Formats: sequence, C-alpha cells, structure tokens
Amino acid sequence: MSRVTKSQLPEGIPMTVFPQLEIPETLAAGPGPGNTDPRVLERFAKTGVADHMQADVLRGMIEAKLMLRELWGTKNAYTYGVAGTGFSGLDCVLSLILPGDKVVAFPNGTFSGIDSLTIRMKASTAEELAADSLNPKPASVTVVETPHGQSVTGEAVDAALAKHKPMWAFMAHWETGSGRVNDVKGFSDACLKHGVMGIVDAVSSLGVGDFNIDDYPGVVAWASCPQKGVLSLPLTYAPVSFTDKAIEMVKKRGCRTYVHHPILDARHWGIIDGKDVDAPGYHQTHSCYAVAAFHEALRIILGYGRARKASDYKYHEAALRQAVEAMGCEVTSDMPSLVVLNLPGKLAGREKELVQAARAKGFGIWPTLSEPVQVRIGILNQLSPEQITEIASRFADGMLAMGAEFDKAQVLNQLKSYYAKAA
Ligand SMILES: *Cc1c(COP(=O)(O)O)cnc(C)c1O
Repeated sequence: MSRVTKSQLPEGIPMTVFPQLEIPETLAAGPGPGNTDPRVLERFAKTGVADHMQADVLRGMIEAKLMLRELWGTKNAYTYGVAGTGFSGLDCVLSLILPGDKVVAFPNGTFSGIDSLTIRMKASTAEELAADSLNPKPASVTVVETPHGQSVTGEAVDAALAKHKPMWAFMAHWETGSGRVNDVKGFSDACLKHGVMGIVDAVSSLGVGDFNIDDYPGVVAWASCPQKGVLSLPLTYAPVSFTDKAIEMVKKRGCRTYVHHPILDARHWGIIDGKDVDAPGYHQTHSCYAVAAFHEALRIILGYGRARKASDYKYHEAALRQAVEAMGCEVTSDMPSLVVLNLPGKLAGREKELVQAARAKGFGIWPTLSEPVQVRIGILNQLSPEQITEIASRFADGMLAMGAEFDKAQVLNQLKSYYAKAA
C-alpha cells in the first residue's frame, strides 16, 4: 500500500490541512434561510448511517411524501422532494419546458428574475442558446416585468396570456426579493381561461401561508425549498408537486434531465406509474440524515398546524412592521414572513452599510439583491413576542449607531403594548 507523502506531490503544490471549520450561531433574520429547529438538527445528527435502500430510510421518504401532500394541500400523486435547494426543485418543474416552447413569464423581483433566466435557457433552441449562452433571449419566451415593489395582478396575467397564447405561464407566488405577494388565484384563473399550463415558484410561501394548491387548477407544477417556511436547512429537499396533466406532458414529450426528471425522481419516493407503491426504486443516493431531518421538519409544521402557523406569521409581521415604522422606516412589502423597507431620509443610501454592520455582529438581515437597494428583515421561525422584540431591538441599535433619531424605549414600549393588547 502506498501513501502519498508531501515529497511525492508535484513540485509547487503545497499540502494544506486547515483547522476545523467553526461557524458561529447567528440570528437568521433575513428572507431565508430560517432558523433551523433544534429537533431537525437532532434528527440529522442522531440518525445512524444507513444506505438509501434501507427499510427505514425508504419508509421515511414515503411518510415524508404523505406529509408533503398534506402541507401542499393536494391529492397530486407526483408530490415529493427534490434533493438540494429551492432552485433544484425549480429546475425539476421548469424541465417541463422544452426548446421552442412558447412561454410567458411574470417576474417582479430577484428570484422570479432568475426563474425567468432558467426558462429562457430551457426554451432556447440550440442556436438561440449559442448566441448568448449565459443570457439567452429565445423568440418563444415573453417576459412581462412588474416593477420591484409591486405585485403581479390577475389582470396583467389575463391580458398577456390573451395576447401571446403561450403553452406555459410562470410566476412566483411570493417574490422574496421585493417581499410581494402575487395573485395566484388570478394567475390560475387566467391559465384556465386561455388553456395555458401554469408553473409557480412557491419557495417562500410553503410552510408560511395557508393554501391548498388543488384550489388553483390552472397551475400544473409547483416548487418550493427546504430552507424557508419548511425550515429544514440541513441540505434536504425542495418540495415539488405536479398534476397528472403535467406528468402526461412529460411522458409524451420527454424531458432533458435524468436527476431532475419529474417521473424518474419520483420513483425513490414510492411513486411509480402514477401510483403509490411500497417498494420504491433507486434514483440517486439519498442521505439518511437528510431524510430524517426533512421528515422531522414536516412533523413540526403539521403538528403546529398550517393555519395556526400562517396566522402567527401575520400577527408577528404586523408587530415588526409597526416597530420599524415607529423608527421612521417605510415598509413596501406585503409578505407575512418578511419586512422590506426604505430607511428614513437621513439614512437613505446607507442601507448596505447598515446591513453589513448588523451582519458583522451576527444579526443576519439582508439588503435587496437587485435595484432599488432596500433592507429586508425576516421572521422565519421567530414566532414569539420575545424573538420579535429581540429583532426590533437589534435593528434599532443598528439604526441609532448610524445616527437615526428616535426613542428606542418608546418603540419597544409600543411593541409591548401591541402584544399586551392582543393577549
Ligand atoms: C429563496 C428563493 C429561491 C431560491 O432558493 P434557494 O434555496 O436559494 O435555491 C427561489 N425563489 C424564491 C421565491 C425564493 O424566495
């Protein structure tokens, strides 16, 4: 047996072993990821090593699938998790789109903008992709932009679908970049009216809002993520759901991916030929740790109750909104898990500086990632008066350190009376 020693490495290649990686605990007060529940981390760490075809791992995946149908509010057989992050699930649902397909996309911020780029890549012909491979502009895709800070309306979708008569339409349910809730009912209705198949990015609404996707039959495919409302960051699964109509399209036309193939990926979750089976088939090497963590995250949400969770988010968002307004900020978002704001006149233009100073202290707030620059403060898994007060207090400190003028004690007292009144 030979061992590689330093002397055997080619000249000029240093052999370096770095110290163990330490990452501190921070307060995740941004749009995502959310603060992981200790129960999820415990399942992750306490799970024994077992391969991806071991009976309890497979049972965990089948149970997770059944819990996911509950969370999504659907009877769709093709409901499961795509290994990876939100964009892994989006890649899976957007793989329905083939080169040359006619699509209308309705972005209104950073994430739906990236989704629109994915759509343009998938819908491009070989020539269109080669012409500008990182930013293709296929003739078959129409992008209807709604300005940052505004929501996509059902009327706008209806008008564009009437005009362009596409095969597919795409929208984000809640656009996390600008913190806006889009009209998913209007979108679904317009899709039905014009015979279009809708695809929705529900990355930041699943696990925060209370909705049943089966109430929106114009939408044939949905994708979410592990790290926002589902609160299972230990890299787990992006929930997806397809109607039978979407799966029929894939069966008929195919799709250019193995790992994110809507039909093939479903096999490992015990979904074969549109039916639940007890004996799943291999698709890829799923992690027993990820399965256990994801399973626990779903148990937590369903145990808490989807409706109760949604109303708690609204209640605490309103508290934080009031507090930052009392500090002189202007809130432009309408999402229940996130506050997107403009700083008061005196501090305007210093958003990134404020965010950086907060982050350096382990208070993880965010700026917007595309223009205009605003501050984003999120409350994922922070559903108690104490946690909201901590977020408000740390944000107040950051603003005061930059010269803002307000009375912090008064702001916190007002927050206290909001909670006292409600109790
Ligand atoms: C966060 C987010 C994404 C991306 O999710 P990742 O987990 O970072 O891949 C996509 N769409 C929306 C609406 C999001 O909020």
